[in-house]
Amino acid sequence: MNKNIFLTNSLGSKKEKFVPIDKNKVGMYVCGPTVYDDPHIGNARPLVVFDILFRVLKCNFGEKNVTYVRNITDIDDKIIQSSLEKKKNIKELTNEITKNFHEDCIYLNCQNPSHEPKATENISLMIEMVDKLVKKNFAYINNQHVYFEVKKFKEYGKLSNKKLDQLIAGSRVEVSDNKKNPEDFVLWKPSEDNEPYWDSPWGKGRPGWHLECSVMSKKFLGDKFDIHGGGRDLIFPHHENEIAQSRCANENDSFANYWVHNGFITMSNEKMAKSQGNILKIKDFKNKISGQVLRLALISSHYKQPLDWNNKLIDECTNTLNKWYGSYVNLKKPVLIPDDILEPLYDDLNTPGYIANLHKLFDKTQKGDLNDKQIFTSACNFIGLLSNTKEEWMGLKKSKSTLSEEEILLKIKERNKAREDKNYKLADKIRNELIDKGVIIEDLNGKTNWKFK
Ligand SMILES: [Zn+2]
Repeated sequence: MNKNIFLTNSLGSKKEKFVPIDKNKVGMYVCGPTVYDDPHIGNARPLVVFDILFRVLKCNFGEKNVTYVRNITDIDDKIIQSSLEKKKNIKELTNEITKNFHEDCIYLNCQNPSHEPKATENISLMIEMVDKLVKKNFAYINNQHVYFEVKKFKEYGKLSNKKLDQLIAGSRVEVSDNKKNPEDFVLWKPSEDNEPYWDSPWGKGRPGWHLECSVMSKKFLGDKFDIHGGGRDLIFPHHENEIAQSRCANENDSFANYWVHNGFITMSNEKMAKSQGNILKIKDFKNKISGQVLRLALISSHYKQPLDWNNKLIDECTNTLNKWYGSYVNLKKPVLIPDDILEPLYDDLNTPGYIANLHKLFDKTQKGDLNDKQIFTSACNFIGLLSNTKEEWMGLKKSKSTLSEEEILLKIKERNKAREDKNYKLADKIRNELIDKGVIIEDLNGKTNWKFK
């Protein structure tokens, strides 16, 4: 507890010592997925990066003292478009993609955030915030649209460190006759007859995308909080707009104190993005390689740097994990990891530095005793690696079960939820289903272990 943590703050563009608003508590908000298509490797990077930051913060401030909020955007133009293309109704589409997203999170061994609010479940709070912005004269209504008037917020552009005209020149600004100024952005807009809508003081419509993060961060973390994360591509306009809305609606001198942004995943030096047509979906790796390989690959570069994705990287990470499993030991509980090993993670989440320490620890296990192996295994587990037993890692390739590792973990999660809800009938049904498919599960000290029959 209470080691110094340093993070690169995009607001000011420098590495700073992390000091939370309340010295015993941390609040972190990360922009989550828009559930219109299956997540790809580019989307996986912030999932894993902020999962590791979540683990580091919990280690330092205590398990219960860190609140991590990651939203699900389940209403957006992209979703409407995708539902038309896929000929699926919107609810069916967003439910399906959300389910796939959760399976991907399990596959990548990411811990659940503390809260995962959906945009559509928070519309009334969004209407409240828009109304406040209109009443305070930061927003205006025109033709059933509500726009935020950017020039009313003097600090607009501070996060991206650019003047307003530079920002406009460098981006595609939506053109509309309804706007007073080209830079103004939409808070609320009318829906067409075949589009989802909610009743509002401005007619039947739906929120603009930026609004939900301002509303949902406020709901769970308050008007001001510690860390806001996301991919670099969100700095402008999304995060600039979040800051403008929140600070004006809440009449506050700050919103999030530390802005942490991860770099892009590239392929042959081009950003991986659906619009570029060069995406690799996470689900396409399942049943071929362990999620741990992807996880290690995703943290092999510093989070701020671009990461080039290629087969060589995957092969190297597979070989590393194969080697590391040679020193894996079953742990009843984690052992203490020395501070000097953890140190790179506290210094701006330097995962390559930490991986170098894991290599050193592995070398030590070659001549060392059981304790060295325990420390090594704990240090890997700390960042979500070597999370399967050795038998499971080896068995992955040999398994005759019709279920993949990820599907098994999802079933176990469903069963644990059923047990929590005291729905023992369902819990037993899931256990029997797993047995039928060649998987045995065992509950031990509050944890559920599994193996193939
Ligand atoms: Zn956001």
